[in-house]
Amino acid sequence: MRPRATGAAIGTAAALVALAGLAWFLYRAGHAVTIERRADQNVLLITIDTLRADALACYGGQVRTPNLDQLASEGLRFDFAHAHAVLTRPSHTSILTGLYPYEHGVRDHSGYRMKAGTPTIATILKQQGFATGAFVGGVPLERRFGLAEGFDVYDDHLGRTGNPSDFALAERPAGEVIAPALTWIRGQPGRWFAWVHLFDPHAPYAPPPPFDRQYARTPYLGEVAYVDQALRPLLDTVHASPRPTLVVATSDHGEGLGDHGELTHGLFAYESTLRVPLIIAQVGGRRSHGAVSHLPVRHIDLLPTVLDAVGAAVPDGLHGRSLLPARPQPADGDVSSYFEAMSAMLNRGWAPLSGVVGGREKYIDLPEPELYDLAADARETANLIDRRADRRRALEARLREYHAAPPGERFAESPEVAATLQSLGYTSGSAPRKAQYTAEDDPKHLIDLDQWIQQGIEAWQHGRHQDALGMYQRIIERRPSMAIGYRNMAFLQWQSGDAQGAIRTLERAFRANAVEPGMTTQLGSYLAEAGRPSDAIALLEPLAAPRPADPEALNALGIAYARAGQIDKSSTTFGRALGEDPGNVQALENIGTLELQRGNLAAAEQALQHAAAIDPRSARAQNGLGVVAMKTGRQEAAFAYWKRAVELAPQDFDALYNLAIELDAAGRRDEARPYLERFVREAPAVQYGPDIARVKRMLRQ
Ligand SMILES: [Zn+2]
Repeated sequence: MRPRATGAAIGTAAALVALAGLAWFLYRAGHAVTIERRADQNVLLITIDTLRADALACYGGQVRTPNLDQLASEGLRFDFAHAHAVLTRPSHTSILTGLYPYEHGVRDHSGYRMKAGTPTIATILKQQGFATGAFVGGVPLERRFGLAEGFDVYDDHLGRTGNPSDFALAERPAGEVIAPALTWIRGQPGRWFAWVHLFDPHAPYAPPPPFDRQYARTPYLGEVAYVDQALRPLLDTVHASPRPTLVVATSDHGEGLGDHGELTHGLFAYESTLRVPLIIAQVGGRRSHGAVSHLPVRHIDLLPTVLDAVGAAVPDGLHGRSLLPARPQPADGDVSSYFEAMSAMLNRGWAPLSGVVGGREKYIDLPEPELYDLAADARETANLIDRRADRRRALEARLREYHAAPPGERFAESPEVAATLQSLGYTSGSAPRKAQYTAEDDPKHLIDLDQWIQQGIEAWQHGRHQDALGMYQRIIERRPSMAIGYRNMAFLQWQSGDAQGAIRTLERAFRANAVEPGMTTQLGSYLAEAGRPSDAIALLEPLAAPRPADPEALNALGIAYARAGQIDKSSTTFGRALGEDPGNVQALENIGTLELQRGNLAAAEQALQHAAAIDPRSARAQNGLGVVAMKTGRQEAAFAYWKRAVELAPQDFDALYNLAIELDAAGRRDEARPYLERFVREAPAVQYGPDIARVKRMLRQ
């Protein structure tokens, strides 16, 4: 037996022997995992979005993940870890706060926000003197959604194109999230806490080469393989750090991949999406051999574990516990984990889903409840609810003990907004709640609707636009109370150039009271663009009344004023959006566009340069800068800007058109030709019909 380490160091073999029988660890002969408690270590939290535990090679998966496997071989790999929510923002909020969703209040992606001042790993470590940096890869975690408190740096530059032509959420690849994280980490003289969030495995699955070919039949796994490779420089940097680093790697939720009929995540809470990988290792300290823990562990345990590791006090009243190897652990059967999936109730009017994992059993509370013995049936194929009345009662009691309140109302539209909606013939609200949900509302019986939604998206992405529209029409007919049917249909109609149809579809949604947050802004934007800017202004002005207001609503209102010819009001509104959030890239892009239209080239350039500095992936900024450069006689610079815009956003047909036409006008037909041909081939005819005709004529000359 080795001598017990001095000072704050714990986790030696001696400490663990005392816990035999309490903790259920497996060890390689003669070795135990060492995670020293020490205040002078760094902390690295890696969250890989949408990563199923069973995808990783170290969890028995089919994909090559040498870097995460190596991390597991140096630390503790937990093989029975659970999330509490199956959506990105609610789940990350639990990871960062150690709170269940009903405690932190973030029950869905829209309409809820964590209460300001809630302690998080970031706010507490910052108080402890750590430098704190967050580097996020996907839109659900942008700064505006409220998780940035406590971070010195919150890097969420995603490069939105401002021209969404499909349903892909804005994201940036793992390599581009990790690059600024590396720069930041290397620049820290003292202890640091870094959170790195990688979004790649989230749908749509499009791994970069060579993973696209290696995983041609399983692109989801290709994304996982890519993320693992991208982690290499981050883990190398941590290894080279002058002080040890506590590394925690997990995911926010998994992915259905067709299990139980669920393709992605968010509706059910089966193990495909609720169970997560979790690896905790201390890198750069004493060398340690890895171990596997079968303890039931949870996301709410991560905050107590991190704080314990650096010797910081854990806030009172938390359900979680430290997972450090030396800490006493309760018997498996005594550990419970609350979970929920509320999105389908809030957005679609389906039954709310909540439940509890107790020991190795799982109870899902739905109109048709479910009970599984996960030790014997990890894939949840045999619902024991009618066979094990005793276990059902026991788990129902455990679930009740949480006293989990149902989600409160979302940010309601303000009374002024509601009144405006009324005057336009609409009512407003979220999916209506029912006093009693029945088997008809059970997500098990509605999951085919979700598949139709996905099929609609897929049809659209493959250019089968009529099929996609037909699919959404079918969804609206089957479940008229469901907002997403109208919302997606309106978006597709809009993208196909059918502005009136899109507006009519949203009006139907408001009449059916099938409204999600954001749909009012969507309608306002459409009205503004479809030649009804005064209706748009009437709808959007009340949305912009609160201070600070929803930034999307402010930008939409600014555009509506511009369309109505109220240029000064437009300018003031964009200025206000920028005042309320100086990092609002869309506001800067809009200011740039407005100043370009007014002929103020210097002001336009200043705003667009500012936008490009904050977000180097902003294609709109690059396109606008190209226009400024061309108008000020800097032809080569203009071509360079436009090429960059086209590269960033292949669907930015304005930039493509500018580049093609101006290259040609400069007498450089050979260089222009591929861009001209691409414009003819790819630009949507409804929006660019006359331009396409002009380019076709040019190509014939
Ligand atoms: Zn997620």
